[in-house]
Amino acid sequence: MNKIGITALVPPELIFACGAAPFDVNNVIPASRKYPGNKLCAWTAIWKEMLIKKEITVDSLIVVAGGDCHNALVDGQKAAMSGIPTHFFFYPFDGDLEYLESQLHRLSGFLGGIRSPEVLKKIQELKKQGQMLDKKRCRGKLSSAEAFRILISFSDLTGDLAGFSRAISALEEKDIDVRNRVALIGVPPIYHDFHEVAQTLGLHIVFDELPYEFIRHGGCDIKEMARDYCGYTFAMPLESRIDFLKKELRKRKVDAVIHYTQFACHHMLEDEVLREKLDYPLLTIQGDLPGNTPQQIKLRLEAFREMLDRL
Ligand code: SF4
Repeated sequence: MNKIGITALVPPELIFACGAAPFDVNNVIPASRKYPGNKLCAWTAIWKEMLIKKEITVDSLIVVAGGDCHNALVDGQKAAMSGIPTHFFFYPFDGDLEYLESQLHRLSGFLGGIRSPEVLKKIQELKKQGQMLDKKRCRGKLSSAEAFRILISFSDLTGDLAGFSRAISALEEKDIDVRNRVALIGVPPIYHDFHEVAQTLGLHIVFDELPYEFIRHGGCDIKEMARDYCGYTFAMPLESRIDFLKKELRKRKVDAVIHYTQFACHHMLEDEVLREKLDYPLLTIQGDLPGNTPQQIKLRLEAFREMLDRL
């Protein structure tokens, strides 16, 4: 089975249906402890370097070039120059359904066309299970660290549907203290232990913005996928994303919001708008290089928890 690197959300069901296995190149980074030589955002710089040095090997690469991240567009082109067959995938900013449908057809063509349509239903089932896990952690029946580990892996379903299904089934329910219900918005933290640290400091993360996008979109054919993925909030105008966030935060009864931002990421510019539009205590933190959550961020999380305790 060909291994297809993806740099952000690309419908994994379509890649599986084309007889290949998706591999989200971001998922190896938090535990990698890599310090890239030439960088803006560490996420794209690290996967670019690992691809060029063949520390990550893929048969081809899909770079999400439109509607998401321009650092990825440039670093993706550098990786492509090392000889990896590369396809550039674009989300429409204006939600144009026909445009996204044509992008999905082009992607399918790049991958050799749909050969295993039967996996689409299976993946839809797995995503329903992901949504149930998300609800359980919201009710305090699953730790946010365990939930996050599975939800973030829905971007590529670890390239192994049977193994991923077993990993979901192996999760055990437990009772978690859900005081201080926190939403984690923005791109995911580059620190591999962030959710454990937050939990230890008395902050229960009941919403992970980007991983939630991985489980809520799908489709059993290209038309359905286009309809669904048109609502991928990170590729849409900020106002639509904020409207969506408001509904989710209300539904999950959150007490506060943590906005994680990444050094040299354009999403940092959204912070002031999110602060203005979301009516919750909001802590903004910024990360740079992968590894453990730094002491300074731990202290800020602790101070934030103490402030919430006083409310
Ligand atoms: S953190 Fe920002 S700049 Fe870095 S890959 Fe993600 S969207 Fe792009």
